[in-house]
Amino acid sequence: MTQLHIPHHVPCIIQGQATQGLADSFAVLNPATERIIALCSSPSAEQIEYTISTAQHALSTWQHSDEATRKAVLMRIALGIEQHADELAQLIVQEQGKPLSLAHTEVAAAIAWTRYQASLDLSPEVLQDDAEKRIELHHRPMGIVVSITPWNWPLMIAIWHIMPALRAGNVVINKPSEYTPLATAKLVQIMQRELPAGVVSILTGDAETGAQLSQHPLVNKIVFTGSIQTGLKIKQHTAASFKHLTLELGGNDAGIVLPDSDLDKIAARIFNAAFINMGQTCAALKRVYVHESQYAALSQRLANLAETQILGDGLAPETTFGPVQNAKHYQKVKQLITEACTEGAQVLTTAQPLPAQGYFIAPTILIHVNAKSRVVQEEQFGPVLPILSYQNVEQVLTELQHSDYALGASIWSSDIDKAQRYIQHLNCGTVWLNTHAEVLPHVPFGGWKHSGLGVQFGQQGLLENTLSQVIHIHKG
Ligand code: NAD
Repeated sequence: MTQLHIPHHVPCIIQGQATQGLADSFAVLNPATERIIALCSSPSAEQIEYTISTAQHALSTWQHSDEATRKAVLMRIALGIEQHADELAQLIVQEQGKPLSLAHTEVAAAIAWTRYQASLDLSPEVLQDDAEKRIELHHRPMGIVVSITPWNWPLMIAIWHIMPALRAGNVVINKPSEYTPLATAKLVQIMQRELPAGVVSILTGDAETGAQLSQHPLVNKIVFTGSIQTGLKIKQHTAASFKHLTLELGGNDAGIVLPDSDLDKIAARIFNAAFINMGQTCAALKRVYVHESQYAALSQRLANLAETQILGDGLAPETTFGPVQNAKHYQKVKQLITEACTEGAQVLTTAQPLPAQGYFIAPTILIHVNAKSRVVQEEQFGPVLPILSYQNVEQVLTELQHSDYALGASIWSSDIDKAQRYIQHLNCGTVWLNTHAEVLPHVPFGGWKHSGLGVQFGQQGLLENTLSQVIHIHKG
Protein backbone atom coordinates (compact mmCIF):
# COMPACT_ATOMS: atom_id res chain seq x y z
CA MET A 1 0.00 0.00 0.00
CA THR A 2 1.70 3.25 -1.10
CA GLN A 3 1.21 6.19 1.17
CA LEU A 4 1.40 9.75 0.04
CA HIS A 5 3.65 12.13 1.92
CA ILE A 6 1.49 14.80 3.53
CA PRO A 7 3.20 17.99 4.72
CA HIS A 8 3.27 18.07 8.49
CA HIS A 9 1.63 21.46 8.61
CA VAL A 10 -1.09 22.33 6.08
CA PRO A 11 -1.50 26.11 5.85
CA CYS A 12 -4.40 28.38 5.01
CA ILE A 13 -4.24 30.16 1.64
CA ILE A 14 -4.81 33.90 1.97
CA GLN A 15 -4.21 36.38 -0.89
CA GLY A 16 -2.81 33.48 -2.90
CA GLN A 17 -0.15 32.73 -0.27
CA ALA A 18 0.29 29.73 2.01
CA THR A 19 -0.18 31.25 5.49
CA GLN A 20 -0.03 29.61 8.92
CA GLY A 21 -3.11 30.37 10.99
CA LEU A 22 -2.16 32.26 14.15
CA ALA A 23 -4.91 30.86 16.40
CA ASP A 24 -5.22 27.25 17.66
CA SER A 25 -3.59 24.32 15.88
CA PHE A 26 -5.50 21.11 15.40
CA ALA A 27 -4.67 17.61 14.22
CA VAL A 28 -6.21 15.76 11.29
CA LEU A 29 -6.56 12.00 11.88
CA ASN A 30 -6.75 9.11 9.46
CA PRO A 31 -9.99 7.37 10.52
CA ALA A 32 -8.66 3.97 9.42
CA THR A 33 -5.60 4.15 11.70
CA GLU A 34 -6.54 6.85 14.24
CA ARG A 35 -3.08 8.31 13.61
CA ILE A 36 -2.37 12.02 13.10
CA ILE A 37 -1.64 12.71 9.43
CA ALA A 38 -1.32 16.49 9.48
CA LEU A 39 -1.61 19.60 11.60
CA CYS A 40 -3.62 22.64 10.60
CA SER A 41 -4.22 25.91 12.33
CA SER A 42 -7.12 28.27 12.63
CA PRO A 43 -6.80 31.89 11.54
CA SER A 44 -6.81 34.67 14.10
CA ALA A 45 -9.59 37.26 14.01
CA GLU A 46 -7.13 39.65 12.29
CA GLN A 47 -6.33 37.04 9.64
CA ILE A 48 -10.05 36.51 8.95
CA GLU A 49 -10.44 40.28 8.61
CA TYR A 50 -7.46 40.43 6.25
CA THR A 51 -8.80 37.54 4.14
CA ILE A 52 -12.12 39.34 3.73
CA SER A 53 -10.34 42.54 2.69
CA THR A 54 -8.27 40.68 0.09
CA ALA A 55 -11.44 39.04 -1.22
CA GLN A 56 -13.08 42.43 -1.49
CA HIS A 57 -10.15 43.78 -3.40
CA ALA A 58 -10.09 40.77 -5.77
CA LEU A 59 -13.83 41.15 -6.32
CA SER A 60 -13.42 44.63 -7.76
CA THR A 61 -11.74 43.09 -10.83
CA TRP A 62 -13.04 39.53 -10.96
CA GLN A 63 -16.72 40.55 -10.96
CA HIS A 64 -16.13 42.45 -14.20
CA SER A 65 -14.28 39.62 -15.96
CA ASP A 66 -16.15 38.47 -19.05
CA GLU A 67 -17.94 35.21 -19.59
CA ALA A 68 -15.26 33.78 -21.85
CA THR A 69 -12.52 34.46 -19.28
CA ARG A 70 -14.36 32.76 -16.45
CA LYS A 71 -15.26 29.76 -18.62
CA ALA A 72 -11.64 29.38 -19.73
CA VAL A 73 -10.35 29.64 -16.15
CA LEU A 74 -12.73 26.91 -14.99
CA MET A 75 -11.66 24.66 -17.86
CA ARG A 76 -8.00 25.14 -16.87
CA ILE A 77 -8.82 24.42 -13.22
CA ALA A 78 -10.55 21.18 -14.31
CA LEU A 79 -7.36 20.23 -16.13
CA GLY A 80 -5.28 21.06 -13.04
CA ILE A 81 -7.50 18.80 -10.91
CA GLU A 82 -7.12 16.06 -13.51
CA GLN A 83 -3.34 16.38 -13.39
CA HIS A 84 -3.41 15.98 -9.59
CA ALA A 85 -6.12 13.30 -9.54
CA ASP A 86 -4.00 10.60 -7.87
CA GLU A 87 -2.72 12.91 -5.17
CA LEU A 88 -6.20 14.27 -4.44
CA ALA A 89 -7.71 10.79 -4.28
CA GLN A 90 -5.02 9.65 -1.84
CA LEU A 91 -5.55 12.67 0.37
CA ILE A 92 -9.29 11.98 0.42
CA VAL A 93 -8.73 8.36 1.46
CA GLN A 94 -6.35 9.29 4.24
CA GLU A 95 -8.44 12.04 5.76
CA GLN A 96 -11.92 10.72 5.01
CA GLY A 97 -11.56 6.93 5.03
CA LYS A 98 -13.34 5.89 1.84
CA PRO A 99 -11.83 3.23 -0.45
CA LEU A 100 -9.46 4.55 -3.09
CA SER A 101 -11.75 3.67 -6.02
CA LEU A 102 -14.53 5.77 -4.45
CA ALA A 103 -12.07 8.62 -3.84
CA HIS A 104 -11.23 8.48 -7.56
CA THR A 105 -14.95 8.68 -8.29
CA GLU A 106 -15.07 11.78 -6.10
CA VAL A 107 -12.20 13.40 -8.01
CA ALA A 108 -13.79 12.48 -11.37
CA ALA A 109 -17.05 14.07 -10.20
CA ALA A 110 -15.13 17.20 -9.16
CA ILE A 111 -13.71 17.49 -12.67
CA ALA A 112 -17.08 16.84 -14.35
CA TRP A 113 -18.86 19.42 -12.19
CA THR A 114 -16.19 22.03 -12.89
CA ARG A 115 -16.40 21.49 -16.65
CA TYR A 116 -20.18 21.58 -16.51
CA GLN A 117 -20.09 24.99 -14.78
CA ALA A 118 -17.76 26.22 -17.50
CA SER A 119 -20.30 25.16 -20.13
CA LEU A 120 -23.20 27.18 -18.70
CA ASP A 121 -24.36 30.44 -20.17
CA LEU A 122 -25.08 33.53 -18.07
CA SER A 123 -25.86 36.00 -20.84
CA PRO A 124 -28.51 38.63 -20.20
CA GLU A 125 -32.04 37.60 -21.13
CA VAL A 126 -34.17 39.88 -23.30
CA LEU A 127 -37.63 40.06 -21.74
CA GLN A 128 -39.12 42.55 -24.19
CA ASP A 129 -37.82 44.21 -27.33
CA ASP A 130 -40.21 46.27 -29.45
CA ALA A 131 -40.47 49.71 -30.99
CA GLU A 132 -41.03 51.32 -27.65
CA LYS A 133 -38.98 49.41 -25.12
CA ARG A 134 -36.21 46.91 -24.50
CA ILE A 135 -36.10 45.14 -21.15
CA GLU A 136 -33.14 42.99 -20.18
CA LEU A 137 -32.54 40.70 -17.22
CA HIS A 138 -28.88 40.55 -16.13
CA HIS A 139 -27.35 38.07 -13.70
CA ARG A 140 -24.89 40.01 -11.54
CA PRO A 141 -22.40 38.56 -9.06
CA MET A 142 -23.36 38.70 -5.40
CA GLY A 143 -19.93 39.57 -4.01
CA ILE A 144 -18.09 37.60 -1.33
CA VAL A 145 -19.32 34.02 -0.94
CA VAL A 146 -18.36 31.99 2.11
CA SER A 147 -18.41 28.23 1.52
CA ILE A 148 -18.58 25.96 4.56
CA THR A 149 -18.13 22.27 3.84
CA PRO A 150 -18.57 18.96 5.73
CA TRP A 151 -16.40 15.83 6.07
CA ASN A 152 -18.22 13.25 3.98
CA TRP A 153 -17.31 14.26 0.38
CA PRO A 154 -14.77 17.00 1.13
CA LEU A 155 -13.49 17.68 -2.36
CA MET A 156 -16.70 17.23 -4.31
CA ILE A 157 -18.81 19.41 -2.01
CA ALA A 158 -16.16 22.16 -2.08
CA ILE A 159 -16.36 22.05 -5.89
CA TRP A 160 -20.17 22.22 -5.74
CA HIS A 161 -19.85 25.43 -3.72
CA ILE A 162 -16.86 27.12 -5.28
CA MET A 163 -17.26 26.58 -9.04
CA PRO A 164 -20.74 28.09 -9.59
CA ALA A 165 -19.84 31.00 -7.32
CA LEU A 166 -16.71 31.77 -9.37
CA ARG A 167 -18.50 31.15 -12.67
CA ALA A 168 -21.00 33.84 -11.69
CA GLY A 169 -18.24 36.37 -10.92
CA ASN A 170 -18.09 36.08 -7.13
CA VAL A 171 -15.03 35.58 -4.96
CA VAL A 172 -14.97 32.71 -2.46
CA ILE A 173 -13.58 31.91 0.97
CA ASN A 174 -13.84 28.23 1.83
CA LYS A 175 -13.86 26.87 5.39
CA PRO A 176 -13.47 23.09 5.13
CA SER A 177 -14.48 20.68 7.86
CA GLU A 178 -11.83 20.53 10.56
CA TYR A 179 -11.89 16.74 10.09
CA THR A 180 -11.07 16.81 6.35
CA PRO A 181 -9.26 19.98 5.23
CA LEU A 182 -6.43 18.37 3.23
CA ALA A 183 -7.87 17.65 -0.23
CA THR A 184 -9.71 20.99 -0.21
CA ALA A 185 -6.49 22.83 0.70
CA LYS A 186 -4.77 21.06 -2.21
CA LEU A 187 -7.63 22.05 -4.52
CA VAL A 188 -7.38 25.70 -3.54
CA GLN A 189 -3.61 25.54 -4.04
CA ILE A 190 -4.14 24.13 -7.57
CA MET A 191 -6.64 26.90 -8.29
CA GLN A 192 -4.17 29.67 -7.39
CA ARG A 193 -2.29 29.09 -10.65
CA GLU A 194 -5.33 30.13 -12.66
CA LEU A 195 -6.80 32.92 -10.55
CA PRO A 196 -5.77 36.38 -9.39
CA ALA A 197 -4.76 36.44 -5.70
CA GLY A 198 -7.70 36.70 -3.32
CA VAL A 199 -10.34 35.29 -5.69
CA VAL A 200 -10.35 31.97 -3.81
CA SER A 201 -9.00 31.56 -0.27
CA ILE A 202 -9.17 28.76 2.25
CA LEU A 203 -9.23 29.17 6.02
CA THR A 204 -8.83 25.93 7.92
CA GLY A 205 -10.50 25.99 11.30
CA ASP A 206 -13.41 24.71 13.32
CA ALA A 207 -16.96 25.87 14.05
CA GLU A 208 -15.68 29.13 15.51
CA THR A 209 -13.91 30.07 12.26
CA GLY A 210 -17.08 29.16 10.33
CA ALA A 211 -19.20 31.28 12.66
CA GLN A 212 -16.87 34.30 12.41
CA LEU A 213 -16.79 34.11 8.65
CA SER A 214 -20.50 33.60 8.15
CA GLN A 215 -21.38 36.50 10.44
CA HIS A 216 -18.99 38.97 8.82
CA PRO A 217 -20.86 42.06 7.56
CA LEU A 218 -19.00 42.13 4.22
CA VAL A 219 -19.99 38.57 3.31
CA ASN A 220 -22.87 38.54 0.85
CA LYS A 221 -23.73 34.87 0.57
CA ILE A 222 -23.14 31.65 2.50
CA VAL A 223 -23.31 28.27 0.88
CA PHE A 224 -23.33 25.61 3.54
CA THR A 225 -23.52 21.83 3.48
CA GLY A 226 -23.74 20.14 6.84
CA SER A 227 -26.04 19.38 9.70
CA ILE A 228 -29.48 20.86 10.26
CA GLN A 229 -28.36 22.25 13.65
CA THR A 230 -25.51 24.24 12.10
CA GLY A 231 -27.71 25.32 9.18
CA LEU A 232 -30.20 26.71 11.67
CA LYS A 233 -27.47 28.60 13.55
CA ILE A 234 -26.22 30.15 10.32
CA LYS A 235 -29.76 31.15 9.36
CA GLN A 236 -30.37 32.74 12.76
CA HIS A 237 -27.05 34.57 12.86
CA THR A 238 -27.38 36.01 9.37
CA ALA A 239 -31.06 36.98 9.42
CA ALA A 240 -30.46 40.59 10.45
CA SER A 241 -27.94 41.19 7.66
CA PHE A 242 -30.15 39.59 4.95
CA LYS A 243 -27.29 37.46 3.62
CA HIS A 244 -28.18 35.10 0.82
CA LEU A 245 -28.12 31.45 1.82
CA THR A 246 -27.97 28.12 0.09
CA LEU A 247 -28.24 25.40 2.72
CA GLU A 248 -27.86 21.69 1.93
CA LEU A 249 -28.72 19.98 5.19
CA GLY A 250 -29.50 16.52 6.45
CA GLY A 251 -31.73 13.95 4.82
CA ASN A 252 -33.49 10.85 6.12
CA ASP A 253 -34.52 9.50 2.74
CA ALA A 254 -36.98 6.63 2.64
CA GLY A 255 -37.34 4.02 -0.07
CA ILE A 256 -40.69 2.29 -0.56
CA VAL A 257 -40.54 -1.12 -2.20
CA LEU A 258 -43.89 -1.96 -3.81
CA PRO A 259 -44.99 -5.62 -3.67
CA ASP A 260 -44.39 -6.38 -7.36
CA SER A 261 -40.66 -5.52 -7.25
CA ASP A 262 -38.05 -7.63 -8.99
CA LEU A 263 -35.64 -8.30 -6.15
CA ASP A 264 -32.95 -9.65 -8.48
CA LYS A 265 -32.81 -6.26 -10.14
CA ILE A 266 -33.15 -3.96 -7.17
CA ALA A 267 -31.36 -5.54 -4.18
CA ALA A 268 -27.85 -4.46 -5.17
CA ARG A 269 -29.07 -1.01 -6.20
CA ILE A 270 -30.75 -0.53 -2.81
CA PHE A 271 -27.63 -1.73 -1.01
CA ASN A 272 -25.36 0.64 -2.92
CA ALA A 273 -27.73 3.59 -2.47
CA ALA A 274 -27.83 3.01 1.29
CA PHE A 275 -24.17 2.25 1.94
CA ILE A 276 -22.42 4.55 -0.51
CA ASN A 277 -19.54 6.21 1.33
CA MET A 278 -20.32 4.00 4.35
CA GLY A 279 -23.77 5.59 4.47
CA GLN A 280 -22.28 9.06 5.05
CA THR A 281 -24.06 10.71 2.16
CA CYS A 282 -26.83 13.24 2.54
CA ALA A 283 -28.90 11.71 -0.27
CA ALA A 284 -28.27 8.08 0.71
CA LEU A 285 -31.19 5.78 1.33
CA LYS A 286 -31.56 5.83 5.12
CA ARG A 287 -34.62 3.59 5.72
CA VAL A 288 -36.46 1.11 3.54
CA TYR A 289 -40.16 0.20 3.73
CA VAL A 290 -40.82 -3.22 2.17
CA HIS A 291 -44.22 -4.83 1.62
CA GLU A 292 -44.63 -7.78 4.01
CA SER A 293 -44.80 -10.22 1.06
CA GLN A 294 -41.16 -9.48 0.15
CA TYR A 295 -39.82 -8.37 3.53
CA ALA A 296 -37.87 -11.48 4.50
CA ALA A 297 -36.50 -12.11 1.00
CA LEU A 298 -35.23 -8.57 0.40
CA SER A 299 -33.80 -8.21 3.92
CA GLN A 300 -31.83 -11.42 3.48
CA ARG A 301 -30.46 -10.34 0.09
CA LEU A 302 -29.30 -7.04 1.58
CA ALA A 303 -27.67 -8.86 4.49
CA ASN A 304 -25.88 -11.18 2.04
CA LEU A 305 -24.55 -8.17 0.14
CA ALA A 306 -23.39 -6.56 3.39
CA GLU A 307 -21.46 -9.68 4.30
CA THR A 308 -19.47 -9.59 1.03
CA GLN A 309 -17.88 -6.25 1.97
CA ILE A 310 -14.19 -6.21 2.87
CA LEU A 311 -13.50 -3.70 5.63
CA GLY A 312 -10.13 -2.01 5.89
CA ASP A 313 -7.89 0.92 5.14
CA GLY A 314 -9.10 2.59 1.96
CA LEU A 315 -5.61 2.46 0.46
CA ALA A 316 -5.49 -1.35 0.61
CA PRO A 317 -6.50 -2.65 -2.83
CA GLU A 318 -8.86 -5.31 -1.46
CA THR A 319 -10.88 -2.85 0.68
CA THR A 320 -14.47 -2.22 -0.40
CA PHE A 321 -15.71 -0.63 2.84
CA GLY A 322 -13.89 1.95 4.97
CA PRO A 323 -14.37 3.30 8.48
CA VAL A 324 -16.80 6.04 9.45
CA GLN A 325 -15.07 9.38 9.44
CA ASN A 326 -14.57 10.31 13.08
CA ALA A 327 -14.80 9.00 16.63
CA LYS A 328 -17.79 11.11 17.62
CA HIS A 329 -19.76 9.94 14.62
CA TYR A 330 -18.70 6.32 15.26
CA GLN A 331 -20.12 6.56 18.79
CA LYS A 332 -23.34 8.08 17.49
CA VAL A 333 -23.98 5.35 14.92
CA LYS A 334 -23.11 2.58 17.40
CA GLN A 335 -25.48 4.12 19.93
CA LEU A 336 -28.33 4.27 17.40
CA ILE A 337 -27.87 0.56 16.58
CA THR A 338 -27.75 -0.42 20.27
CA GLU A 339 -30.82 1.66 21.06
CA ALA A 340 -32.78 0.18 18.14
CA CYS A 341 -31.92 -3.35 19.34
CA THR A 342 -33.05 -2.50 22.86
CA GLU A 343 -36.32 -1.37 21.31
CA GLY A 344 -36.86 -4.68 19.51
CA ALA A 345 -34.77 -4.58 16.31
CA GLN A 346 -32.66 -7.53 15.24
CA VAL A 347 -29.31 -7.33 13.44
CA LEU A 348 -29.64 -9.64 10.43
CA THR A 349 -26.01 -9.42 9.33
CA THR A 350 -23.61 -11.82 11.05
CA ALA A 351 -20.78 -10.15 12.95
CA GLN A 352 -17.46 -10.06 11.13
CA PRO A 353 -13.96 -9.39 12.48
CA LEU A 354 -13.06 -5.71 12.35
CA PRO A 355 -9.61 -4.14 11.94
CA ALA A 356 -7.96 -3.55 15.33
CA GLN A 357 -7.63 0.21 14.79
CA GLY A 358 -9.97 2.68 13.17
CA TYR A 359 -13.62 3.67 13.38
CA PHE A 360 -15.00 0.58 11.67
CA ILE A 361 -18.64 -0.45 11.73
CA ALA A 362 -19.61 -3.31 9.43
CA PRO A 363 -22.59 -2.59 7.16
CA THR A 364 -25.54 -3.46 9.36
CA ILE A 365 -29.01 -4.55 8.26
CA LEU A 366 -31.64 -4.06 10.96
CA ILE A 367 -34.99 -5.86 10.76
CA HIS A 368 -38.17 -5.76 12.86
CA VAL A 369 -37.26 -2.20 13.77
CA ASN A 370 -39.61 -0.15 15.92
CA ALA A 371 -40.77 2.68 13.67
CA LYS A 372 -40.30 5.11 16.56
CA SER A 373 -36.62 4.20 17.10
CA ARG A 374 -34.19 7.04 16.47
CA VAL A 375 -32.44 5.03 13.76
CA VAL A 376 -35.68 5.39 11.74
CA GLN A 377 -36.77 8.85 12.83
CA GLU A 378 -33.38 10.60 12.68
CA GLU A 379 -30.65 10.76 10.09
CA GLN A 380 -28.18 8.05 11.08
CA PHE A 381 -25.66 9.01 8.34
CA GLY A 382 -23.74 5.78 8.77
CA PRO A 383 -23.44 2.12 7.72
CA VAL A 384 -26.76 0.91 9.07
CA LEU A 385 -30.04 0.36 7.22
CA PRO A 386 -33.32 -0.14 9.09
CA ILE A 387 -35.87 -2.18 7.11
CA LEU A 388 -39.52 -1.81 8.00
CA SER A 389 -42.38 -4.03 6.91
CA TYR A 390 -45.70 -2.58 5.73
CA GLN A 391 -49.11 -3.79 4.61
CA ASN A 392 -50.62 -0.56 3.42
CA VAL A 393 -48.51 1.85 1.31
CA GLU A 394 -50.85 4.80 1.96
CA GLN A 395 -50.05 4.51 5.66
CA VAL A 396 -46.30 4.69 4.91
CA LEU A 397 -46.80 7.77 2.72
CA THR A 398 -48.78 9.51 5.46
CA GLU A 399 -46.08 8.72 8.02
CA LEU A 400 -43.36 10.13 5.76
CA GLN A 401 -45.29 13.35 5.28
CA HIS A 402 -44.91 14.07 9.00
CA SER A 403 -41.11 14.03 8.84
CA ASP A 404 -39.18 17.31 9.00
CA TYR A 405 -36.57 15.74 6.70
CA ALA A 406 -37.43 16.26 3.05
CA LEU A 407 -34.36 15.79 0.86
CA GLY A 408 -35.32 12.78 -1.27
CA ALA A 409 -37.29 9.56 -1.46
CA SER A 410 -37.59 6.61 -3.81
CA ILE A 411 -40.21 4.15 -5.00
CA TRP A 412 -39.20 0.74 -6.25
CA SER A 413 -41.51 -1.24 -8.51
CA SER A 414 -41.67 -3.24 -11.73
CA ASP A 415 -44.69 -1.15 -12.72
CA ILE A 416 -43.44 2.40 -13.44
CA ASP A 417 -46.97 3.74 -14.06
CA LYS A 418 -48.17 2.50 -10.71
CA ALA A 419 -45.08 3.82 -8.93
CA GLN A 420 -45.57 7.27 -10.47
CA ARG A 421 -49.01 7.61 -8.92
CA TYR A 422 -47.42 7.82 -5.47
CA ILE A 423 -44.93 10.60 -6.32
CA GLN A 424 -47.38 13.40 -5.61
CA HIS A 425 -47.63 12.17 -2.01
CA LEU A 426 -43.91 12.53 -1.38
CA ASN A 427 -42.98 16.01 -0.13
CA CYS A 428 -39.28 16.33 -0.87
CA GLY A 429 -36.75 17.80 -3.28
CA THR A 430 -36.02 14.69 -5.36
CA VAL A 431 -37.98 11.51 -6.05
CA TRP A 432 -36.21 8.59 -7.67
CA LEU A 433 -37.92 5.54 -9.21
CA ASN A 434 -35.95 2.27 -9.04
CA THR A 435 -32.80 4.15 -8.09
CA HIS A 436 -31.66 6.49 -5.32
CA ALA A 437 -28.88 8.93 -4.38
CA GLU A 438 -28.06 9.80 -7.98
CA VAL A 439 -26.95 13.42 -8.32
CA LEU A 440 -25.86 14.94 -11.62
CA PRO A 441 -24.21 18.26 -12.55
CA HIS A 442 -27.10 19.38 -14.78
CA VAL A 443 -29.94 18.38 -12.42
CA PRO A 444 -31.00 20.77 -9.63
CA PHE A 445 -30.71 19.22 -6.16
CA GLY A 446 -31.93 20.54 -2.83
CA GLY A 447 -34.09 19.79 0.16
CA TRP A 448 -37.45 21.00 1.39
CA LYS A 449 -38.45 21.70 5.02
CA HIS A 450 -35.48 21.20 7.41
CA SER A 451 -33.36 19.58 4.68
CA GLY A 452 -32.34 22.87 3.17
CA LEU A 453 -32.91 26.12 1.37
CA GLY A 454 -32.38 26.62 -2.35
CA VAL A 455 -30.83 24.25 -4.84
CA GLN A 456 -27.41 23.47 -6.25
CA PHE A 457 -26.49 22.20 -9.73
CA GLY A 458 -27.93 22.95 -13.15
CA GLN A 459 -28.73 26.42 -14.41
CA GLN A 460 -30.97 26.95 -11.40
CA GLY A 461 -28.09 26.25 -9.02
CA LEU A 462 -25.82 28.64 -10.89
CA LEU A 463 -28.42 31.40 -10.72
CA GLU A 464 -28.43 31.10 -6.91
CA ASN A 465 -24.99 32.71 -7.10
CA THR A 466 -26.31 35.77 -8.89
CA LEU A 467 -28.48 38.80 -8.26
CA SER A 468 -31.11 39.68 -10.84
CA GLN A 469 -30.84 43.17 -12.28
CA VAL A 470 -33.54 44.35 -14.66
CA ILE A 471 -32.77 47.12 -17.14
CA HIS A 472 -35.59 49.08 -18.80
CA ILE A 473 -34.55 51.03 -21.90
CA HIS A 474 -37.15 53.46 -23.21
CA LYS A 475 -36.46 53.92 -26.89
CA GLY A 476 -38.59 57.02 -27.43
P1 NAD B 1 -21.60 20.13 10.76
O1 NAD B 1 -22.82 20.95 10.59
O2 NAD B 1 -21.19 19.77 12.11
O3 NAD B 1 -20.33 20.83 10.12
C1 NAD B 1 -20.32 21.27 8.78
C2 NAD B 1 -19.38 22.44 8.66
O4 NAD B 1 -19.90 23.55 9.39
C3 NAD B 1 -17.98 22.19 9.21
O5 NAD B 1 -17.05 22.84 8.35
C4 NAD B 1 -18.01 22.89 10.57
O6 NAD B 1 -16.74 23.33 11.03
C5 NAD B 1 -18.89 24.08 10.25
N1 NAD B 1 -19.58 24.67 11.41
C6 NAD B 1 -19.93 24.07 12.57
N2 NAD B 1 -20.59 24.95 13.36
C7 NAD B 1 -20.64 26.13 12.69
C8 NAD B 1 -21.23 27.40 12.97
N3 NAD B 1 -21.86 27.66 14.12
N4 NAD B 1 -21.13 28.36 12.02
C9 NAD B 1 -20.52 28.14 10.85
N5 NAD B 1 -19.93 26.96 10.53
C10 NAD B 1 -20.01 25.95 11.44
O7 NAD B 1 -21.83 18.87 9.83
P2 NAD B 1 -20.87 17.64 9.61
O8 NAD B 1 -20.92 16.85 10.87
O9 NAD B 1 -19.55 18.07 9.11
O10 NAD B 1 -21.59 16.86 8.40
C11 NAD B 1 -22.56 15.88 8.60
C12 NAD B 1 -23.93 16.46 8.35
O11 NAD B 1 -23.97 17.15 7.11
C13 NAD B 1 -24.99 15.39 8.25
O12 NAD B 1 -26.10 15.76 9.02
C14 NAD B 1 -25.38 15.38 6.76
O13 NAD B 1 -26.66 15.04 6.42
C15 NAD B 1 -25.12 16.76 6.36
N6 NAD B 1 -24.80 16.81 4.92
C16 NAD B 1 -25.76 17.25 4.06
C17 NAD B 1 -25.52 17.27 2.71
C18 NAD B 1 -26.55 17.78 1.73
O14 NAD B 1 -26.22 18.02 0.57
N7 NAD B 1 -27.79 17.97 2.12
C19 NAD B 1 -24.30 16.85 2.24
C20 NAD B 1 -23.34 16.41 3.12
C21 NAD B 1 -23.60 16.40 4.48
